[in-house]
Amino acid sequence: MLGDVAIAVNPKDKRYKDLKNKTLLLPILNRELKVIYDPMVDMKFGTGALKVTPAHDPADFGLGQKYNLEQINMMNEDATINSIGGDYEGMDRLEAREAIIADLKERGLFVKSEAHRYAVGHCYRCHTMVEPRLSPQWFVKMKPLAEPAIAAVNDGRIKFYPQRWTKVYLDWMNNIRPWCISRQIW
Ligand SMILES: [Zn+2]
Repeated sequence: MLGDVAIAVNPKDKRYKDLKNKTLLLPILNRELKVIYDPMVDMKFGTGALKVTPAHDPADFGLGQKYNLEQINMMNEDATINSIGGDYEGMDRLEAREAIIADLKERGLFVKSEAHRYAVGHCYRCHTMVEPRLSPQWFVKMKPLAEPAIAAVNDGRIKFYPQRWTKVYLDWMNNIRPWCISRQIW
């Protein structure tokens, strides 16, 4: 929540159509949140309203790029909360989670909690939960490297057996993105 900048809802969702051009308030920080309408939001999942945290989630990062949202990094390198987090500054992320729930309850803003299964990355060494966090990385620009590799297949110098892999290869090469070559251990 400390890194949230928007709430995404499905444009077909009648429950939220009155929110157009309105601003919501993040209760614990009083930060203003934009409302964005994106057809990718699953109306049937939970409330159908998706909080968007571009600096701390890969899918939300993509939404942030698409809608030009601010990226608010609320975590230090050691996964404690930085000054963005107001009263929660200095707490470990797990401590902060508990503290935020307690504060929401105290203010009468907590509705309910529900058990929910989902996939979270864990460290391969110590099995700690991984926290996605925006940070500078080194990338290789792949387009100029892909071009001669595409040409080699298009002009027949390289052939695929079985032939159907040609399309897979070309799809991949034509839509190639910059490659991250940073190899830090989080
Ligand atoms: Zn570890």
